[in-house]
Amino acid sequence: MEDEVLIKVQNVELTYNDGKPNAFRALRDVNLQIRKNSFAIIFGPSGCGKSSLLNVISGLEVPDKGEVFVGEKNLLTMSKGDHVYFHRKTIGMVFQSYNLITTLSVLDNVAIPQIFVSSNKQTREEKALKLLDRFGIKPQADKLPSELSGGQQQRIGIARAIINDQPIILADEPVGNLDSKSANNVMQILSELNREENKTIIMVSHNPENIIWGDHIIYMKDGMVVKEDIRNAKGETTQVSKEEEDEFSKIEAMLRNFQGLTAEQIKILITPMKSEILARSVLVDMDQKQMSILEESIRRRILNTITPQEFFEIMDKSDREGGVDMDVRRAHKVAKKVEDLIALAHTVNNVDNDDNERKANEVVKYLLTQENVKISPNQLEQLKELIKHRIMNRIDRGVFRELLDAPPSKKGVGFNSKTAKKIAKSLDIILMVGYGMK
Ligand code: ADP
Ligand code: MG
Repeated sequence: MEDEVLIKVQNVELTYNDGKPNAFRALRDVNLQIRKNSFAIIFGPSGCGKSSLLNVISGLEVPDKGEVFVGEKNLLTMSKGDHVYFHRKTIGMVFQSYNLITTLSVLDNVAIPQIFVSSNKQTREEKALKLLDRFGIKPQADKLPSELSGGQQQRIGIARAIINDQPIILADEPVGNLDSKSANNVMQILSELNREENKTIIMVSHNPENIIWGDHIIYMKDGMVVKEDIRNAKGETTQVSKEEEDEFSKIEAMLRNFQGLTAEQIKILITPMKSEILARSVLVDMDQKQMSILEESIRRRILNTITPQEFFEIMDKSDREGGVDMDVRRAHKVAKKVEDLIALAHTVNNVDNDDNERKANEVVKYLLTQENVKISPNQLEQLKELIKHRIMNRIDRGVFRELLDAPPSKKGVGFNSKTAKKIAKSLDIILMVGYGMK
């Protein structure tokens, strides 16, 4: 049945190294229900507890408190033997690093889980070949995994995960090591298994681009589930929000609704939202009409369909001539601000440049000038460090803001909370405007 709850996680707590000085609370009072035939995506920044949660669901990790049900079974009260059998029958695992056996052929890698459900060699190989054929890697059956591309190796990983007809697939960053084309291919395979074979999929990802494939998005932060979006068969989304909505979640929600579009199409569609945010950030006192012209002009600048000079002219021109009617000095100022921000967003988002030190330097310089903040050399170093982590997506915006606010003794920058908020918001805008830019 469509609405049947398949997986239930109740009040789960998980602390690593409990009782030791390096104790770490990885899961905090996690409550979750996943319906049968869902494509659930556990999303959040690195270190927020995604893998821990997945491992609790698979039974690989035993929580300190709480309950975990898969179907009718309570994982935590099962005997070890029962659990091994249950896991083999019910759950297929897919890993970021494929976890293939390097000395076995592609065919044997896929066939191996069948040994444990005691089918004969011929049945095993027929089943494996059928899957290889289906995923377009049959010609490679006799090769070693290392002779195949990353995308192909992950397809072997998926074939292996479903050869025992397990109804549930758990995948931890399955496309994390793949280029975007291979990633797309693997996501399509997972989506097909979900839609056509009614597999329930739970996938972990830190990459917002993958969110569009899911119909149940579980947002995690600091070991907690902070928000969920659940889409039903009719395509309506219910938001189970545990945090106030912000501009970022608006963009994420939009991305999900753009299933099937290319990155290029998505980029064009989210541009108006970026323009709106950017326009609001550069100006306050304008009437509605001026604001619309400004937004539209920013949109065109982001898409690069007008030049910086043309942008300036629109700011400067009178209302009658279709402009925003600013005086020249202000027009210059606004034009410069927009150009600086777009250039910076480009730099920060440039994936071909992995000089994060330089990116952080530019961002720091911009933020301090922009917000007119004076800081000590020590604070500067710490701020740069945090910005680097934020750019690399190692910390999320909430953690970033908290650390701006926290004292140096706690690895913070020691800003007052107002400045912390301002700086965090400015960086949000840079990252948002840069989203999807090349
Ligand atoms: P994610 O998958 O979201 O990146 P994880 O669930 O892997 O996060 O880890 C959550 C936190 O728990 C991290 O800070 C990580 O360092 C810590 N952690 C994970 N596994 C262990 C472990 N076996 N022992 C100690 N700490 C761990
Ligand atoms: Mg992980």
